[in-house]
Amino acid sequence: MSFVDEFKKLSRSELQMSLYSTTKQDVERALINPEGNLSSLLALLSPAAEPYLEQMAQRSVALTRQRFGASLGMYIPLYLSNLCANECDYCGFTMSNKIKRKTLSEKELVRELSLVKKMGYDSVLLVSGEHETKVGLDYFKQMLPLVKQQFSHVALEVQPLEQTDYQSLMEDGLDAVMLYQETYNPVTYANHHTRGKKKDFSFRLESPERVAQAGVDKVGLGVLLGLDDWRLDALLMGHHLAYLEKHYWRSRYSISLPRLRPCTGGVPPKVELTDKGLVQMICAFRLFNQQLEISLSTRESPEFRDNLFALGVTNVSAGSSTQPGGYDEPNSQLDQFEISDERTPYEVAAAISARGLNPVWKDWERGWR
Ligand code: SF4
Repeated sequence: MSFVDEFKKLSRSELQMSLYSTTKQDVERALINPEGNLSSLLALLSPAAEPYLEQMAQRSVALTRQRFGASLGMYIPLYLSNLCANECDYCGFTMSNKIKRKTLSEKELVRELSLVKKMGYDSVLLVSGEHETKVGLDYFKQMLPLVKQQFSHVALEVQPLEQTDYQSLMEDGLDAVMLYQETYNPVTYANHHTRGKKKDFSFRLESPERVAQAGVDKVGLGVLLGLDDWRLDALLMGHHLAYLEKHYWRSRYSISLPRLRPCTGGVPPKVELTDKGLVQMICAFRLFNQQLEISLSTRESPEFRDNLFALGVTNVSAGSSTQPGGYDEPNSQLDQFEISDERTPYEVAAAISARGLNPVWKDWERGWR
């Protein structure tokens, strides 16, 4: 039994109908008992919850401060490679894109690490395209110890691996794995993922379970907002999260809510998610799950990010490059997507402090375990 079996039992059409027929009374009931309740999550994600946004936002702020204090964790993505054996039409790294490909050597990685370290970071998210033969387990095992020498917290956002691979990487200091489903609509998924191993919707869907089964401390889920109906995608991610938490309660969980951004040859969003919609989603998840970590990337504009810092997010990136080697030798032709907040980490940290919050550069979690 895995979430794939659970997912097959869910009726998309029924959930969609419930989302769009939710009433004011349903939302008011959901606000009484939102924690861990998937029916409440549905109501809070529905259009009927929009008039309650202010109330949801105030509760989200209070719950986030209660659980996470005034801290906002600072992390930075570091791209290892833009090689990719998949075809995803929304991504600049997609296999058929005629862009320059690059995979960092040990020397190049060490250089990138020292530049990121100088910015003040102690938490790094290693990212790569999905290319098992050239950027697979052996490569990660070679590189992870170099990263761990300098950084206390190391997360991976790469292709799904086997459970034993995750266990092996934990010996080298792996702390977290991000594995985004992109969309929970199998038809939309098939339209956007046309070649390579990522085509397999079910394999992707069961992958976070292998991470949790391996005992990795933190597992990250995410959807690419704009590919499909965001309310339904968010709700199904809530189902996924609830399943994982129930079965693998030793791990912590995080979500990312990236909106589709322009990239070389990329597709425009099919469904637009407004700023207000993104706020609703963050608040709905915070009311649903008070332990949940919520990441905010530089895809969003500075002004909007500043307003979100206090709202419910817990982890923030800044000064990001989305290309391998981008901190040492920026080359926009290697980018995965365009970023929107181009401020330096210091400027972002100052904006966080100006809102009475503390930017935290070091994750002490490993020391507590
Ligand atoms: S989204 Fe990931 S798997 Fe798809 S093309 Fe981009 S890097 Fe490759």
